[in-house]
Amino acid sequence: MTVNLLDLDAAGLTAFFAEHGERPFRARQVLRWLHRCGQADFAVMTDIARSLRDELGSLAMVVPPAVISDRISDDGTRKFLFDVGGGNAVESVFIPEEERGTLCISTQAGCALDCSFCSTGKQGFNRNLSVAEIIGQLWQVRHALGAWQGPEANGERLISNVVLMGMGEPLANLDNTVTALRLMLDDNAYGLSRRRVTVSTSGLVPAMDRLRDECAVALAVSLHAPNDGLRDQLVPINRKYPLRELLAACQRYLEKAPRDFVTFEYVMLDGVNDADAQARELLALTRAVPCKFNLIPFNPFPGSPYRRSPAHRIRRFAEILLDAGVVTTTRKTRGDDIAAACGQLAGQVLDRTQRTGRRTLVLQLDRQDACT
Ligand code: SAH
Ligand code: SF4
Repeated sequence: MTVNLLDLDAAGLTAFFAEHGERPFRARQVLRWLHRCGQADFAVMTDIARSLRDELGSLAMVVPPAVISDRISDDGTRKFLFDVGGGNAVESVFIPEEERGTLCISTQAGCALDCSFCSTGKQGFNRNLSVAEIIGQLWQVRHALGAWQGPEANGERLISNVVLMGMGEPLANLDNTVTALRLMLDDNAYGLSRRRVTVSTSGLVPAMDRLRDECAVALAVSLHAPNDGLRDQLVPINRKYPLRELLAACQRYLEKAPRDFVTFEYVMLDGVNDADAQARELLALTRAVPCKFNLIPFNPFPGSPYRRSPAHRIRRFAEILLDAGVVTTTRKTRGDDIAAACGQLAGQVLDRTQRTGRRTLVLQLDRQDACT
């Protein structure tokens, strides 16, 4: 069977080459060609013997998910839609800022967890993405940005941060997520620091413990409510893993985390979870967990029953948290005009017909021939 090499991290590639009687350094060479140089063509991997290159051609392939569309918002946010087969598509969003460039990627087609305010959740669960489909988003966006390393590279740091906050629940697809994370951190691949890679979870407690042990990166937890009663409604997985267990898992995670805090995400829903008293309840709830808050103004989508909290309410809510000494930021809503904001991702193939994009780019995949 032909192996998609984008499915393999360093350990997987080493095992692959061992099976074919090759030494471990081959894995490093190929890893660098694939993930430092963005090279898919074995013929140009010139430091590998021609006979092995020919063999690779028959044993293996390099197949990222195909880009269906690439749209740029008025504010520079760029949304990519990828075909993952079977009529499904997933999305990635690149958010350029002065000091950094953040890529938000998906881990599942759809999501089974059905949070009541989330567009991805509303489309239901389709399937887990493979490693190649997860890391392939980074691979393809690097191509689109021209951000590979090598003699002619023009922006290898364009993607300085990766957040797993796109479609799906990363910890419900833990094995593939961990392998993709290992590639992101590997110096022979993307070489990102653990602090610059963030997994966002709605709170799958056992998987949080596994992530901590297998590949502890920065952690964001989607809290959204200050008590179990409300969280049960907004984030149904809370019925299985209630707040007491979730917060204990956060504390355990921090024993190995690359940062000394957890980021709590809190979507601001008008009249639902945005009262002063709820901010104070939230402070009491999270007292024992070193944390920061990130308030996310709700992003509406067709058919959703919620409204975004008004700006003055979000400011007041933030003030209460800040006055108690908790670092609190409010997420800028970006990419509104191309439905690229948090919780608006619903990459069904239907999106192909959407007319909301301002500009559709012709993809230029400038594959480099030489790479150091
Ligand atoms: N499944 C993971 C990661 C993907 S969702 C999780 O739930 O954490 C990424 C973030 O977007 C989560 O904090 C999620 O609660 C939030 N989100 C979902 N729908 C939203 C919406 N309509 N408006 C604003 N934020 C939303
Ligand atoms: Fe899934 Fe996250 Fe959306 Fe909830 S918020 S339905 S966990 S993607």
